[in-house]
Amino acid sequence: MSSPTRAAAVRSTTDPAPGPPLLEVRDLWVEYRTSYGLTNAVNGLSYSVNRGETLAILGESGSGKSVAARAVLGIIESPPGYVTGGEVLFDEVDLTRLPAKEMRRIRGERIAIVFQDALTALNPVFTVGFQIAEMFRVHRGMSHADATRKAIELLDRVRIPNAHNRVGDYPHQFSGGMRQRVMIAMAIALEPDLLIADEPTTALDVTVQAQIMALLAELRHDLGMGLVLITHDLGVVAEVADRAVVMYAGRGIEYAPIGELYKSPAHPYTRALMRSIPRADQKGGRLEAIDGAPPNLSAIPAGCEFHPRCPLAAPVCSEERPDPVEVAAGRRSACHFAEKVVSGEQ
Ligand code: SF4
Repeated sequence: MSSPTRAAAVRSTTDPAPGPPLLEVRDLWVEYRTSYGLTNAVNGLSYSVNRGETLAILGESGSGKSVAARAVLGIIESPPGYVTGGEVLFDEVDLTRLPAKEMRRIRGERIAIVFQDALTALNPVFTVGFQIAEMFRVHRGMSHADATRKAIELLDRVRIPNAHNRVGDYPHQFSGGMRQRVMIAMAIALEPDLLIADEPTTALDVTVQAQIMALLAELRHDLGMGLVLITHDLGVVAEVADRAVVMYAGRGIEYAPIGELYKSPAHPYTRALMRSIPRADQKGGRLEAIDGAPPNLSAIPAGCEFHPRCPLAAPVCSEERPDPVEVAAGRRSACHFAEKVVSGEQ
């Protein structure tokens, strides 16, 4: 994991735009029905993101963060996946109720996604220039020459060196970091209002990770987009995000401005996560592993989902599921003892 010490370098420096959130996910539920049984992938997730803001969605593998992003985009494969409840309000329109044709238009023009694996997401038999230019040909009706010119401009904008010559290259001719830049170029081609980046740097080395994050933050600023950054890497998040949602077992268990999340996590799970990552500002000492394993989403524990692993668990924890409650301005935690945790009493 990368160090969180460059936190302020590329974070938003302006207040979010006034008015309703750009995206508001309300009590979202997603399940998968397979021959092996029912998997409760997303269980009442809520969050919002404003224009010009970067929201990090943090969680271990299997916490439901990528499934939730797919539900927002309307690309859950169904069957076996089903959105069974909740609303996804984008500019105050519920995307879960839109006809497929209208949803496709929004997905192409107003909401874009960058996937983790650019090599899989890009088509290996077409040049990167052709794939970017196609966005302009299909959505803007541009001629081949104009669309190719735009593709070169975009490759240049995401800092592909010598873009004019590389526009005719195929995906396999680029390094992992450069392929991710190509994916970002495609995602921002139509200047979306919202960009969702799903583990965009997982397969990259630390130096390239930082470069990609800085690029995303710069584009978010220049285009005034909302940016949702999905990651398991707390270090990456510290460098770019304004706020964070921590997910566990398919729902948000802590919501906080990013600096406060690092300084004084209010949920025992977040606190354990923080102790498990190396930090450049803390020399010596041992990193702590979190006891136990993430819950099986086909058999989520009753009460607080984290109670089998939680060092603070009390009898009430296995009986009642705590809802997120406000523990300070702009901060919420789904723990029966959140106030004591955030104050350091526990
Ligand atoms: Fe731990 Fe109980 Fe809080 Fe859950 S509700 S995180 S088990 S103390």
